[in-house]
Amino acid sequence: MKCPYCSTEVHIPRERNSSGYLSNPDQIEESGDGFGIAEGFCPACGRFVVLFLEGHYHEKGGLETYQETVIYPKYANAPYLGSEIPKSYRDDFREAYAVNGISPKASAAISRRLLQNILHEAYKIEKRNLLTEINEFAQLPNVPQHLIEAIDAVREIGNLAAHPTKNVNTGEIVEIEPHEADWLLEVLLELLDFTFVQPEKLKMRKAALKEKLDSIKNQTKQ
Ligand SMILES: [Zn+2]
Repeated sequence: MKCPYCSTEVHIPRERNSSGYLSNPDQIEESGDGFGIAEGFCPACGRFVVLFLEGHYHEKGGLETYQETVIYPKYANAPYLGSEIPKSYRDDFREAYAVNGISPKASAAISRRLLQNILHEAYKIEKRNLLTEINEFAQLPNVPQHLIEAIDAVREIGNLAAHPTKNVNTGEIVEIEPHEADWLLEVLLELLDFTFVQPEKLKMRKAALKEKLDSIKNQTKQ
């Protein structure tokens, strides 16, 4: 699982704390559908996480988990987004990030729509579907390699070419592949940085350099 705080791929140690129960306590058999709660500290950032587990319960072996859902923290700490990024984009990103632990499908729907909005509004790329738009964006000069890699993951994992609903009606809530919502968030984070944060940093570096050059020129004049 991904730690809801630090996003590191971790295994929350749970042997000590885990509990498992049969879904139906009146069941005579010793095994069946079951659930449980696990709690532990993220090995990477040391913060406290509580998971709801679903799986198959064996009286001797405990719960064999098929599915785990983070129930605490309720809203994860979203990565910091600077004020260079327009507020509506920041708000959508935070929402997609916050719901990812509870509903990756909802998160992916918000993310796909946000991705499309950025391509339309900041790049004026408007094509017949999201995949074509992403492909066109990826052709732009200077797109950093890590952004291209994240885009490739979304194109492949999300199988955008094969999913007209995801691809055309981007806000639609549809079935997704494992980690698709995570990769969409990754693409957005990199895209927001590339589009809004880096140009601002470059502007500041240029201004600082100009100031330095001017002061050298002034000194040599004197
Ligand atoms: Zn962590």
